[in-house]
Amino acid sequence: MISPPEAFSKVIENVARLPVVSLPLKECLGRVLADAIRADRDMPPADRSAMDGYAVRAADLASCPATLRLTGEVAAGSPLRPRVRPGTCVRILTGANVPPGADTVVMVEQTSAEDETVTFRAAPRPRENILRRAENARKGEVLLPKGTVLSASAIGAAASSGHTRVKVHGMPRVTVLCTGAELRDASDRVGVHQERNSNGPSLCAALASWGYRGCRYATLADNLAVQTRRIRQAVSQYDVVLVVGGVSVGCYDYVSRAVEAAGGKTLFHGVAMKPGKPLLMARFGRRAVLFGLPGNPLSAMVGFHEFVLPALRRMSGLAAEVCRPAIYTPLAADLTHKGGTQRHMPARIRWQPTGAVIEPVESQSSADLVAGGKADGTILLLPQSKVLPAGTLVEFRPWRPLP
Ligand code: AMP
Ligand code: MG
Repeated sequence: MISPPEAFSKVIENVARLPVVSLPLKECLGRVLADAIRADRDMPPADRSAMDGYAVRAADLASCPATLRLTGEVAAGSPLRPRVRPGTCVRILTGANVPPGADTVVMVEQTSAEDETVTFRAAPRPRENILRRAENARKGEVLLPKGTVLSASAIGAAASSGHTRVKVHGMPRVTVLCTGAELRDASDRVGVHQERNSNGPSLCAALASWGYRGCRYATLADNLAVQTRRIRQAVSQYDVVLVVGGVSVGCYDYVSRAVEAAGGKTLFHGVAMKPGKPLLMARFGRRAVLFGLPGNPLSAMVGFHEFVLPALRRMSGLAAEVCRPAIYTPLAADLTHKGGTQRHMPARIRWQPTGAVIEPVESQSSADLVAGGKADGTILLLPQSKVLPAGTLVEFRPWRPLP
């Protein structure tokens, strides 16, 4: 049995970033940039108006009120460049290039217009309301460094500098094998001795929540030969194989033997944490890694978020420090922990006007799917954490990306 930090290090050491691929930008949400994205021109490319108003020469409005003659207009997208001469002004709209001769834009709200003249109530500050050429970035400057996760706004920055294809890290192909003679599909009739397969749908959904879409699961019998064959097959087709159930020490728990029989090298089997203790990780040469997760639904969820997700994120190109999502959030009420073993307590987020607080979800055991259904993630309770008063910042490990 190893400690959770040791297991986490083994995960990070034993997975590598996947090769770089070039993809259309619109398919890259959530991907990790393998190459920096640079500005293809100055941003903005010219001095631009930040407001609807009038382009003026500040010197003409040194003492106000003052009236200037209106001689033209530039709207956003207009290529016109009407010169602003002394004593004149040009109507300008947000996003339009500032015309030659002007050095300031006055907001329309601070003016009153007649037919051919505009009266200005107060003297503007020179260069007011102008977005300066290249004030955001110069041509060639890095907009998004290598390693950036392409969020919606990062995709906006890339699109604005003309990038239609980008180099990103590959995403791992993942499959889920559920073991257990008791398992039936949700659509099957179930006897009192049987259990519906909830981990299959749940883990595929967890994968999708974090951007690993399209994963499928299969259900296998508790049979060494069957499991060996299916594991051998899976590791030849996928980068990451999740086997759920059958990883403990019961006489029908065949997974660890099947992994070895299929040619896997066990990296660890048993982690000092609750739930999730029987967890197993193995590698198959340089081809694939396999995780064996305990079958109890809360154990499977915790094991997935503690170790599988970091492996997937690392393979997708993220830095090791950000592979396991966590936030520090205050506890909604006092919490006591028996100590002794690291625990992951199901918890939910309560949104308050002042921010989020975390409250534990009461659960009877790691088989408690009802509690699982209410939880947004887990609170990490270290062996030494004992009495935690309300308001204590606790490490919360979310089960989906948070807003
Ligand atoms: P195991 O890890 O195989 O010892 O299973 C532990 C518990 O989890 C048992 O009660 C199983 O019936 C249950 N279990 C295992 N796999 C699943 C699954 N895919 N869906 C729902 N429950 C499961
Ligand atoms: Mg089982």
